[in-house]
Amino acid sequence: MSAEYDVIVVGGGIAGFSAALYTARQRLKTLVITKDIGGQLNMTTLVENYPAILKTSGPELVARVRQQAELFGAEVIFDEVVDIQKEGNVFRVRTYGGDEYASLAVILAFGKTPRELGVPGEARLKNKGVSYCTICDASFFKGQDIALVSWGDLAREPATILSTTSNKFYWIFPSDKPIYDDEFLSNVLNAGKAVLVPNSEVVEIKGNNKVEAIAVKNRKTGETQEFKVAAVFIEVGYVTKTDFVKHLVRLNERGEIIADWEGKTATPGLFAAGDVVAYPYKQAVIAAAQGVAAALSATAYVLQAKGKKVYSLTDWRAEKIK
Ligand SMILES: Cc1cc2nc3c(=O)[nH]c(=O)nc-3n(C[C@H](O)[C@H](O)[C@H](O)COP(=O)(O)OP(=O)(O)OC[C@H]3O[C@@H](n4cnc5c(N)ncnc54)[C@H](O)[C@@H]3O)c2cc1C
Repeated sequence: MSAEYDVIVVGGGIAGFSAALYTARQRLKTLVITKDIGGQLNMTTLVENYPAILKTSGPELVARVRQQAELFGAEVIFDEVVDIQKEGNVFRVRTYGGDEYASLAVILAFGKTPRELGVPGEARLKNKGVSYCTICDASFFKGQDIALVSWGDLAREPATILSTTSNKFYWIFPSDKPIYDDEFLSNVLNAGKAVLVPNSEVVEIKGNNKVEAIAVKNRKTGETQEFKVAAVFIEVGYVTKTDFVKHLVRLNERGEIIADWEGKTATPGLFAAGDVVAYPYKQAVIAAAQGVAAALSATAYVLQAKGKKVYSLTDWRAEKIK
């Protein structure tokens, strides 16, 4: 089987597009397969700690890197990668949409994904009222009754936003209090929009083509009640969804991919970068830098696979050490 691409990048966040910028600029045929543009940075309207850029929004930052990568010839396809297999020295990358692409190298840059509740109706009604990003989607449901599933510090931003955008919001959480910060909580309650639903969990999200109601179970009494809502905002953290590559890489206890500082994983030709990697600091500039390191390693790997001479840092270091 022959490879139609030199490099396939999985993920269109800051790590993925930084990687694609470098491989495409090295004239490697590069494809980015991604569920969306921007990843987690879509959830912030203000980034002021990316070196050389005083202030920007998350989406704007990634849009610029995407533009740079495309200027050098990187292609972008919107889909979800569900399987990767290595056959000989070629990777077969299969998507949810049923397509298959082949490449000599793959860079895994698929970051973190919002944690789901795993209840009936949730998957079916995603983007039809089920949202994992209040700051992104709250304005679509202005003046309506909403549900928020969130607690602790994660709930600060969504509760603040829904206090201004919603008619009222049912705030569902598993303990007695949604947040142990009394001043913050009383500010939210004084805004008059929050209806606290303590000791509770959502057990079903209902609706035909859009969210119409949720069923909520009280953990103490066992009783279930229904709330009519137009949307459910679920903000319960992020997970790494690395199951589909676990036969090719080593994972840590959090399911993050173990890669060395060159972005190399346990499989030759398979590299990883950004928040999906087992590295403690999750920041945009770090993800971008890891994307670049993985791209340089992938470039050396692809050129070697094609029998070309490689002038890379790795070779230079090896020569000096000898
Ligand atoms: C609310 C919030 C605010 C933040 N603010 C800042 C900040 O101000 N400054 C800062 O430096 N950092 C900030 N961060 C952290 C920063 O967003 C991350 O470190 C960075 O986005 C990681 O980039 P990434 O490309 O590795 O992953 P992600 O941003 O998670 O992007 C992953 C990409 O992969 C795609 N994807 C996932 N699975 C698949 C699949 N199977 N197939 C295809 N595509 C897939 C996703 O759709 C997404 O496009 C913030 C994070 C959050 C959540």
